[in-house]
Amino acid sequence: MICRKCGADNKDTNSFCVECGAPIMHEKENSRASKPIGVLAYLGYEILFIIPVVGLVSLLYLALGGTENKNLRNFAGFWLCKIFIFIVIVAVLFLTGVVSINDLLYL
Ligand SMILES: [Zn+2]
Repeated sequence: MICRKCGADNKDTNSFCVECGAPIMHEKENSRASKPIGVLAYLGYEILFIIPVVGLVSLLYLALGGTENKNLRNFAGFWLCKIFIFIVIVAVLFLTGVVSINDLLYL
């Protein structure tokens, strides 16, 4: 097993690299970490993420390493970026006076 961090060759039974101490990714864990997300799972997560409070908590949990699946972590990260960009755009619209609180109240 080649260490991904330092490239040292380790025994297949090792859990940690003998050179640098990094955890050795075995095939099984590795495939679980990079397992693709299915279409329906994407849809399920989209619905989960738009629920107020619950969605944000789920997003933060998943994006900050609550799942070992890289795809899901990246997807949650992408959602956080999306929310951040949305907040920036709304803030700019309010600060430049394009939109005011009255526009929202008297829609
Ligand atoms: Zn190493």
